[in-house]
Amino acid sequence: MATKRDYYEVLGVEKSASKEDIKKAYRKLAIKYHPDRNAGNPEAEEKFKEATEAYEVLGDDKKRQAYDQFGFAGVEGNMGAGGAHDYSNVFHDFQDIFGGDFSIFDTFFGGGGTRSGRGYGGQYRGADLRYNLDISFKDAVYGTKVEISYNRNVSCTECGGTGASAGSGRKRCPTCGGTGQVRRSSGFFSLASTCSTCHGEGSIIEKPCSHCGGSGTNRKVQKIKVTIPPGIEPDKQISIPGQGDSGPSGGIPGDLYVFVNVRPHEYFERSGNDLYCMVPINVAQAALGCSINVDTLDEKKVKLKIPAGIQNGKLLRLKGEGVPYLHNPNKKGDLYIKIQIVTPERLSSKAKALMEELSQQLGENENPKPVRLSTL
Ligand SMILES: [Zn+2]
Ligand SMILES: [Zn+2]
Repeated sequence: MATKRDYYEVLGVEKSASKEDIKKAYRKLAIKYHPDRNAGNPEAEEKFKEATEAYEVLGDDKKRQAYDQFGFAGVEGNMGAGGAHDYSNVFHDFQDIFGGDFSIFDTFFGGGGTRSGRGYGGQYRGADLRYNLDISFKDAVYGTKVEISYNRNVSCTECGGTGASAGSGRKRCPTCGGTGQVRRSSGFFSLASTCSTCHGEGSIIEKPCSHCGGSGTNRKVQKIKVTIPPGIEPDKQISIPGQGDSGPSGGIPGDLYVFVNVRPHEYFERSGNDLYCMVPINVAQAALGCSINVDTLDEKKVKLKIPAGIQNGKLLRLKGEGVPYLHNPNKKGDLYIKIQIVTPERLSSKAKALMEELSQQLGENENPKPVRLSTL
């Protein structure tokens, strides 16, 4: 572009034009000069760009104000004469102005609209798969390796994923004539959409492979080993890239997501990296103090000293007997033991006699003072 024309002049509107008038004017020009109706006409393309740039400024209240006040300098940062153009704002309005289909602008704006199902390199990407894996509480804490098997679409070995039988190639798609797009009229404006026969490829398989029926993939039982790291949190997903379905026509495969469900333990519960359980002791043990052996999750017996006079519900800690840290397995959380003082329900005659004696020793309090429930 040699010299820029005034934006109002480009759109053919007065300086006082309303927002609606500006939109109408742009719509008229965009339809007239749209590249779809002017294939191979660089002048029309230039006019379309010019109108779009003008609309981007005048269609936006803030930019219009800056332009009115400072001219091109006021909006230069966004425009960058001759450089890459940012159409992202105006893109929103396209929907408003022209209706739903964005694919017509693909070539023009370097692919603003995405083609569904397409991944990197223009290839179709296979589907992601989900596998639900149940593991024990202990395996979640210490980590494990599990072999899983699942059904998966894999690239056909016969045709190498192309879907074409040996010696046969591809032919031009009869539906779209090789353009990959079909046009449909929408009033005065023609819109293009991706051809459903060839999915936009422009060509179809001449003679489909008999092994896969032309899809390029076959169903197969896949076995893989999944590594569960020590300390994995419950309800965690493990993603295994490339182990989902293979893409059709040799496209890249999707991913496998392993959803890990941890079965509850008989008595251990977990909070972060700490473990919790409850251990019952009798009244005499609580009053006199004692030493007990506690089972840990890794099936050791660890000695735990209970001080004399311990109260019901007291938490005691065994350091380093908890869950290893995910990123530092040498470091472990703690094991907390909640003391439950159990009153004997049946007493032998000797125990009863001792208890009665004890009761007299302690003194029978007929008027115990109530306390708040929350202090327990
Ligand atoms: Zn095949
Ligand atoms: Zn086609």
